[in-house]
Amino acid sequence: MEPDPYADFHSAETGGPFRDCISCGLDLDHDPELPYLVAKSFRRGECTFEYAICDDCRSNMAQEFSSESRQALARFFEEHVNVRERSIFLAFGDKPAPWIEKCASCEIPRNQLESYSLGGVLLGRNMIYDPYPLCLCGRCEEAIQGLLSQKTRGMWDDFVDTHFDGPPANVEDLPVRGRPVPF
Ligand SMILES: [Zn+2]
Ligand SMILES: [Zn+2]
Repeated sequence: MEPDPYADFHSAETGGPFRDCISCGLDLDHDPELPYLVAKSFRRGECTFEYAICDDCRSNMAQEFSSESRQALARFFEEHVNVRERSIFLAFGDKPAPWIEKCASCEIPRNQLESYSLGGVLLGRNMIYDPYPLCLCGRCEEAIQGLLSQKTRGMWDDFVDTHFDGPPANVEDLPVRGRPVPF
């Protein structure tokens, strides 16, 4: 049997696709119109944080981010992610793999990264391409965290704390306490 091309975006906890929105509990399979984001963070090959969030909850959260943070995030992607060049991955068809082979920002190959996060947007069981899915390394995540305003960082910390038990002791040396970035 061929490996599932979407396996990287399945829940590490269940081994299968994510079933509900972490925020509102919506059954992600049930609304074929509403895309959702899957985010996963890895440290030394272990998944340390994962969630799926529906587009409604994600935009609600983004709206609460300060406008300076939103602008800073947009600027980071403009300046550091070669979105146009990444579009050539569309030629590979419905395969997330080439999109997440390297950090989208510094382009260090994923298999050389000690920590990284993945973000992908899905609709039902299908991946929506360009500019997602993408991979960001821990170092670039740290750079992004540094761009967020204190208010936004506090909000994001609350979100992570609410849905996350905290990193196991062995991952506490992650940059910025192992916080993943808001994708
Ligand atoms: Zn939701
Ligand atoms: Zn990077």
